[in-house]
Amino acid sequence: MDDEDLLEFIDGAVPATTASLREPWRILVVDDDPDVHESTAYGLRGLEIEGRSLQLLHANSAAEALGVLRRERDVAVVLLDVVMETDNAGLVTVVAIRNELGLAHVRIILRTGQPGQAPEIDTIRRYDINDYKTKSELTRTKLYTTLTAAIRSYDQLRRIDASRRGLEKIVAASNQFIAEPGLQSFAEGVITQIAGLVGVEPEGVVCACTPRTEAGSHCVVVAAAGRLAHLMQHRITDIDDPYIVASLTQCLAERRNLLAERSVTLFFAGREGGDFVAFVYASAPLRDVDAHLLEVFCTNIALCAANVELVTRLRNHAFVDRMLGLPNRTAFLQHLDDAVAAGGAAGHAIGLMDVDQFAETNDMFGHGYGDQLLAAIAQRLGAVQDGAGFLARVAGDTFGLFGLESSVNPERLRSVFEQPFEIENVLRPVSVCMGFVRCDDTNGSGLELLKDASIALKRAKELGQGRSAYYSAEVGTVTRERTRMLHGLQRAFDHEHLFVVYQPQVNLADGRPIGVEALLRWRTDDGKFVPPDRFIPVAEQSGLIVTMGAWVLRSALHALAALRSVGPQGGALGIRVAVNVSSVQFAQPQFLELVDEALRDSGVPPECLELEITESVAVMGMERVAALLRQIKARGIAVAIDDFGTGFSSLSYLDRLPADRLKIDRAFVMSLDSGRLGARIAEMIVPLGHQLGMQVLAEGVETEAQADILRALGCDEAQGYLYAKPMVIGDLGPWLAQRLGAPP
Ligand code: C2E
Ligand code: CA
Ligand code: CA
Repeated sequence: MDDEDLLEFIDGAVPATTASLREPWRILVVDDDPDVHESTAYGLRGLEIEGRSLQLLHANSAAEALGVLRRERDVAVVLLDVVMETDNAGLVTVVAIRNELGLAHVRIILRTGQPGQAPEIDTIRRYDINDYKTKSELTRTKLYTTLTAAIRSYDQLRRIDASRRGLEKIVAASNQFIAEPGLQSFAEGVITQIAGLVGVEPEGVVCACTPRTEAGSHCVVVAAAGRLAHLMQHRITDIDDPYIVASLTQCLAERRNLLAERSVTLFFAGREGGDFVAFVYASAPLRDVDAHLLEVFCTNIALCAANVELVTRLRNHAFVDRMLGLPNRTAFLQHLDDAVAAGGAAGHAIGLMDVDQFAETNDMFGHGYGDQLLAAIAQRLGAVQDGAGFLARVAGDTFGLFGLESSVNPERLRSVFEQPFEIENVLRPVSVCMGFVRCDDTNGSGLELLKDASIALKRAKELGQGRSAYYSAEVGTVTRERTRMLHGLQRAFDHEHLFVVYQPQVNLADGRPIGVEALLRWRTDDGKFVPPDRFIPVAEQSGLIVTMGAWVLRSALHALAALRSVGPQGGALGIRVAVNVSSVQFAQPQFLELVDEALRDSGVPPECLELEITESVAVMGMERVAALLRQIKARGIAVAIDDFGTGFSSLSYLDRLPADRLKIDRAFVMSLDSGRLGARIAEMIVPLGHQLGMQVLAEGVETEAQADILRALGCDEAQGYLYAKPMVIGDLGPWLAQRLGAPP
């Protein structure tokens, strides 16, 4: 072979321009003859194959060759001498390459010195030797063509392998799109597969677009690999590379694949305009066959993507509430959005209906019962709106109805609950709180409308069971105010900025302390006190009162334990601590357990604890209240009825509440010396309490005159500024020591 041949070959067939951009093919020359290394290097000098230059690695023995292959990755071809250390060192090396090193893709070309050294045909087959040449046969041109064929085949094997890996990832993703990262791992598979087909490292992004709406659609990167990994979750418009942005945008606009020098950008048509687009860097223009393959690939993937999307949607946003067969919250929101977008919300209203005491019902009668109740309500609501409105179950025990204001309003919906519901053959009255929003009043999205309706519902719940409220700007403000307070309170609680103060209670006859009432205090960061009358209701509505109340109970008991430990003289033996218990806490199934635990932990005997409850506990049902009170009393714990006379139902419940102490509310005590109605109520309460075997304690006693009147009425005990204001535990010790130490 002469040099002219070679030059012609180079000029005619090898594009030299892009070669430097891409990694060279790596070829391992294995021969014990240094001349062979040299001549091979010389023969291949400056040549390129498939637009890439060649890099030679050298090994002088079979052992060295295996060392190189172990160390270096991506060796495309091994030019292997047969006879080296031994007569068949080359063949042994082949076995080791395939079996020990597990290198299936590397192409192996055997070179022998003489034809006589040629291995048998079946040896070639058995060892997966890809070509066989005698050294004399391998002129420079022949070497070049032999290498080109080997490298092409190596490249294809690698692509098939990469593409198989991509495919495996896609298959795995399809099998698994029920798992949360379904879409993402699917999209990653797409990148790998494109990269495999193009024959580059996987570096690219896949963007998913939301379905087109009036507002347009936006596309977000759902998978990103290689040096583009940081683009994950970026919107297309936020990508910092103008070339990528332009490619993606053009591809989406023209809805077709773009095969450029530096990149491939592929378009996948999705459902309802929820298209996908993938961008992957390429290092050279694609061959025709690849472009064709990509088209086929895209069609496949688009189908697959639609499935992934469908399944993902089914899973994440299932539109139907399984239990009731009603549309769920997502469907409700979608419907609202659609109605607003179509201009069909005018004259319409949203009503949210929340079943009163549903959680308690569930606790008491079991979930099966609760489910039946909900189904019965759903059925009636479905009947009343008569197909004209849109009914959904938006939360556990909350139904949403969207329809004309003439049918979605408090009067109309109240009528649905007039008759009791028959569940398990028992008639059961059901009340609901309802929140409404007129869609004319807002021009927000479905989500905003639903939020406003929820605010109205919250307001209705504050008003009490069976009430309803409309959303208005003021209601919104009040609710947001409460929400802000709740967050502040939660933070204060978490950061231990709440503390407990203690107000003594005394025997009216001799002024001797008999107990203390624990009262909660909240001092905000700027040093202001928020009165409990304001924050306790917020804590009750949010349920925070449960953990907060448990904490007050524990604090109070530990404080008392500390006082008692001081000793009989200065200590507080015999002193009781009274703790306010909200009806919300009282209704908790674990309430009693919690009290037991707090008593055990503090070591305070049950006789020294008093629980102050109000008549509002009656909402949990008198049977349950009575049963719970019996259990409390069986432990020796005392019970006081707080704020007596202010509740709505007063006297009728009293004889059914086995309590030790009746507390006359401060409001009645205040009007004692006025002769007004309040005074007469106080006069009635004292004998009433005594008749039922209770001690009577007057709250908020501020003057001697009030104390005198109360004593004359036969009232037993008192609490108020006349005796002491609520104080921190550090002050209470000395105060008690003084009173207890020296009886008057
Ligand atoms: P309450 O249980 O009726 O507590 C008595 C309230 O009257 C306390 O107000 C006390 O500071 C105040 N007071 C006592 N003597 C006098 C007096 O002579 N004159 C005047 N003007 N007021 C007096 P406070 O501490 O503001 O508590 C208000 C309400 O907050 C309590 O009323 C109770 O219902 C609730 N509360 C306080 N702490 C807790 C708690 O830990 N848990 C629960 N659930 N509620 C609590
Ligand atoms: Ca109280
Ligand atoms: Ca009270």
